[in-house]
Amino acid sequence: MQRMSQSGSILEKISFEELLDIMEREAKKRNAPVYTLKSKLKTPFHYLVSAVLSSRTKDETTAKAVEKLFSVVKEPEDLAKLPIDEIEKLIYGVGFYRVKAKKLKKLAEKLVKEYNSKVPDKFEDLIKLDGVGRKTANVVLAGAFGKKVIGVDTHVHRISNRLGIVKTRTYEETERELNRIVPEKLKNRVNSVFVGYGQVVCKPNKPLCNECKLSKLCPKLDYKSMT
Ligand code: SF4
Repeated sequence: MQRMSQSGSILEKISFEELLDIMEREAKKRNAPVYTLKSKLKTPFHYLVSAVLSSRTKDETTAKAVEKLFSVVKEPEDLAKLPIDEIEKLIYGVGFYRVKAKKLKKLAEKLVKEYNSKVPDKFEDLIKLDGVGRKTANVVLAGAFGKKVIGVDTHVHRISNRLGIVKTRTYEETERELNRIVPEKLKNRVNSVFVGYGQVVCKPNKPLCNECKLSKLCPKLDYKSMT
């Protein structure tokens, strides 16, 4: 059953599942960097570290950093033992790598001391870790644990507004609205599909509307006037 969405929303024309399927197919066909990054993540610890590294960093750069880091670090103990300058060298290239190196070390120490070296699967526990905010926690819960939650970042916020699915000003409002509208079973797909589509088609400054499979259905709303 389709939930109530904004008037003028693309969801008046297709279901959310159809929308996700089209976006996912197109993003994969165009080798969206998010899928290269995801292919390197095998454990909840990988998802967590990658999510911390990826803030304000392109997925291509994060993918290279996680590959280098995980060639040395297998478990939280390994990361907790590494000197900060070693971590900095391994993740060099990602945005704010010095700050993130410190956060990663603290995060790993906390995992070892308080969580028996396991990544917690509860939102309340995750956001207590260094470098983990609301979006990161939800991305980890959805990606690593398959929980029915939606991590809202700049791509999810922008595209949801352009498609008229929501009419919101902040990430928190977008998260709340999407949680109301998106069917439960599809929630954990939203972040990676929207990120992938945002990387290769519905780009931030110059969306490729002429090449977009949703062009005939999309209201192409100017999300910037809403932010
Ligand atoms: S038609 Fe344009 S604005 Fe709409 S989803 Fe496609 S690229 Fe984005």
